[in-house]
This record gives sequence, C-alpha cells and structure tokens, in this order.
Amino acid sequence: MVKKIKKNQIIFTATILIMIVVSLTNISLISCKNIEKNTYEIDKYTELRNNMVDYQITARGITDKKVIETMRKVPRHEFVDQYLKDSAYADRPLSIGMGQTISQPYIVALMTESLELTGNERVLEIGTGSGYQAAVLSEIVKEVYTVEIITYLHQKSNKILSSYSNVATSNHDGYYGWEEYAPFDRIIVTAAPDHIPQPLVEQLTDEGIMVLPVGPPGWNQVLWKLEKKDGKVITTKITDVVFVPLTREIK
Ligand code: SAH
Repeated sequence: MVKKIKKNQIIFTATILIMIVVSLTNISLISCKNIEKNTYEIDKYTELRNNMVDYQITARGITDKKVIETMRKVPRHEFVDQYLKDSAYADRPLSIGMGQTISQPYIVALMTESLELTGNERVLEIGTGSGYQAAVLSEIVKEVYTVEIITYLHQKSNKILSSYSNVATSNHDGYYGWEEYAPFDRIIVTAAPDHIPQPLVEQLTDEGIMVLPVGPPGWNQVLWKLEKKDGKVITTKITDVVFVPLTREIK
C-alpha cells in the first residue's frame, strides 16, 4: 500500500515536472519569436531611415551635420498611425488625420537647416501636427515651444512628445505666437498663412530667424526666411512649397 502511494507520488511529480519543462520551452520560444520580430522591425526602420537621409536629404544638398544626424535618429514611423508606418520614410507628406499632414522629410530638413541652429536656441513652432518637427528640433536646440490649433492633434502629439523633456506644447491659435514665453530665437511655421503674422515678427529676438510658408491655400506658396537685424526685417525666398493653410478657428 505504502509502495503504491509512493509510486503514484513519483508519477504525479514526474508529470508536473514534464508539464513545467514543456511550458517553459513554449514561453522561451514565444519570447524568442517576439525578440526576433522586434529586432527585425528596428532594423527595418533604421534602414529605411538611413535610406531616407541618403537619397532624399543629403542627395538634395542638405549639409548641416546636426540636421542630418538628427534625421537619422528620430523615429518618424512613431509619429504616424499604424497603417502608415511602412510609408513613414517615403519621399512625400503623409496624412495625420483631421485633413492635416506631416511634412515630406526633405522639407523638414530644409526648414530646420534654414533656421541656422547652433544648439542654444529657444524655438517656437506653429503647427505641432504629429509632433515630428518638434521632436527633430528638440534633439538640436535648448527648448522647443510648439502650438497646435486642433485639440485632437494637440492631445495625440502630446502623448509622444511627453518623452521629450525640453518640449512644451499648447492648444491655441498660433497666429498670436506664444506671448508667455516670448521672445524666441527662432520661429518655424508649418502651416501657410496668407500674410506674415505680425505677432510672430514681434516675438522674434533681434538677430532671430523665422522660417515660414506664405500664400493662398494649396498653391503658389513661397517658403521664406525672415531675419531680424537691428529692428529691421530682411526676407529671402527659400523655395516654392505646398503647405496646409494656417487656420484661425480652434477645432
Ligand atoms: N509640423 C507638423 C506638420 C504640421 S501640418 C509635423 O511635424 O507633423 C500643420 C499643422 O498646423 C496642422 O496640425 C494644423 O492643424 C496646424 N495649424 C493650422 N493653423 C494653425 C494655427 N493657427 N495655430 C496653430 N496650429 C495651426
């Protein structure tokens, strides 16, 4: 009788041990697969990002090392919806919802380079959108202040921008800049007004630079570089562009 109980105990313990070994093997196989998948995804996006920089940015004449390094680093695919992740490094703007777009990578690089950043600046961005341009700036400068008029986009971009400690965001009409933190060494506007907003010119420091598209909705817009020197304003044309319009209603 005692022997039988012992035999049963041995069989029971052995069964439990086998079950533990089998489940541990499965768990480690599953986690290996996950690691493999994640590594593959990281490699895939790093490769796409490096190709973007090589074929769209340096090939078109961007030479600022800080801009180039940053664009190799910031994960653009994390600023778009899941269904667009594989297109995030394509040579075009992409939808971010609410009829708005994240600018083409080359335009982000061109505007950032045109700001002539040294690293110590406080920068105001009008048009947070996805948050990508703000993230690129935050890697280069001291502080970024970014304003978005559409509440949904403001809240959505806040989630990802909260991991960038030198970025402050606000949900208001950026036509008026951000008085509370003015003046700014640099201002970048990523939606096109039909004239240069005077409050933005006023919130730019002397020796400051502003880069902005100006023109009617959808066509005939020009990207301008505006420099303030001894109270005077000098504007230089950078190139022709197409941006979403700077709107005036809070949605
Ligand atoms: N810089 C963004 C691209 C923005 S698209 C990025 O990296 O993704 C232009 C953005 O400007 C849109 O999100 C639009 O809602 C916003 N916008 C338009 N008019 C505005 C205004 N008056 N004030 C602030 N944001 C504005």
